[in-house]
Amino acid sequence: MYKKFKEHLEKELTDIKEAGLYKNERIIESPQGPEIEVANNNGEVLNFCANNYLGLADDSRLIEAAKKAMDTRGYGMASVRFICGTQDLHKELEKAISDYFKTEDTILYAACFDANGGLFEPLFTEEDAIISDSLNHASIIDGVRLCKAKRFRYKNADMEDLERCLKESKDCRFRIIATDGVFSMDGNVAPMDKICELAEKYDALVMVDESHSAGVVGATGHGVAEKFDCYGKIDIFTGTLGKAFGGAMGGFTTGRKEIIDMLRQRSRPYLFSNSVTPSIVGASIEMMNILKESNELHDRLVENVKYFKDKMTEAGFDIKPTESAICAVMLYDAKLSQDFAAEMQKEGVYVTGFYYPVVPKGEARIRVQLCAAHTKEQLDKAIAAFIKVGKKLGVIK
Ligand SMILES: *Cc1c(COP(=O)(O)O)cnc(C)c1O
Repeated sequence: MYKKFKEHLEKELTDIKEAGLYKNERIIESPQGPEIEVANNNGEVLNFCANNYLGLADDSRLIEAAKKAMDTRGYGMASVRFICGTQDLHKELEKAISDYFKTEDTILYAACFDANGGLFEPLFTEEDAIISDSLNHASIIDGVRLCKAKRFRYKNADMEDLERCLKESKDCRFRIIATDGVFSMDGNVAPMDKICELAEKYDALVMVDESHSAGVVGATGHGVAEKFDCYGKIDIFTGTLGKAFGGAMGGFTTGRKEIIDMLRQRSRPYLFSNSVTPSIVGASIEMMNILKESNELHDRLVENVKYFKDKMTEAGFDIKPTESAICAVMLYDAKLSQDFAAEMQKEGVYVTGFYYPVVPKGEARIRVQLCAAHTKEQLDKAIAAFIKVGKKLGVIK
């Protein structure tokens, strides 16, 4: 039987390659960080495409905490949370996350993909409606698909269009607005103040995914509630431990007490998937302590973003307005974005070129992700490479 299926797959794979959408893995032979060693490459390369916003992925304090948790709590849990997979450390981390977001309770998942996948189905039925931003992450889209609630979609961060959805869904029992905090392609922030106002006016709940915003957005990096001062107005936050918060893995949902309690009863990725491993939990508790003690890492990130954006704009590049650590350097042309990324790699700088269908047609770009651990010298080297390649390919004069 496999022969026919094999031919089918081979054809599809060829189509993906011909469309230029085939994904290859780059092999890294060092820890994750601003400078990485790459297989079959002479010397190190600068990394500007990790979600390692606070530079914690190779932090020695987290590595020590992970080792200590392994020494005292073991390697694996071999259980889901509610059977015999909950240690004191899990409760401690959940409490630390609630404190960080100023929420009532938190539930951990193996990933934010699971947090979003297991969020909607336990809470809403066909009598309800989910109103979703058109640029929401795939995991929110999949979570919505698993739920029987009616679906409404509004244009990215477009409050008029959101209001239209709220009017159209007025006969539903409960409504929830679901949005990313920071959208990963433009680096723009969801206007949470306006979203919360509309939610109040039309009696809807609010959910935000803080994966790209927690640790980054807001005066001290505490996310969109801090930035827009909407504490107490957002009912549900989801987020990841795999980006600014250390970059290992794990996700969480945090928010109102009764909602989290219901997720512990009915959320399928919580009920039927393994507990987060002690080393990650121990290191994440340490990560929360580090962020509580000082705002140094976030301050450095903000400085680096400003420095990079200013220098690049000065050099003549067209940068989307960003309110996060994501800078979209606009090139508009799909092929140019791929050539540009390849030339940057030759200069020893890793950045990613994105084009349709990942971004709208005619909006191809290089996405740069900044990190608190990038030094001035590394930023200057990347900017110099951008200028060199930009001139070579006729993007700037
Ligand atoms: C990265 C990301 C996720 C997935 O997080 P994982 O913990 O890696 O599963 C979910 N939502 C958003 C908005 C993300 O950017």
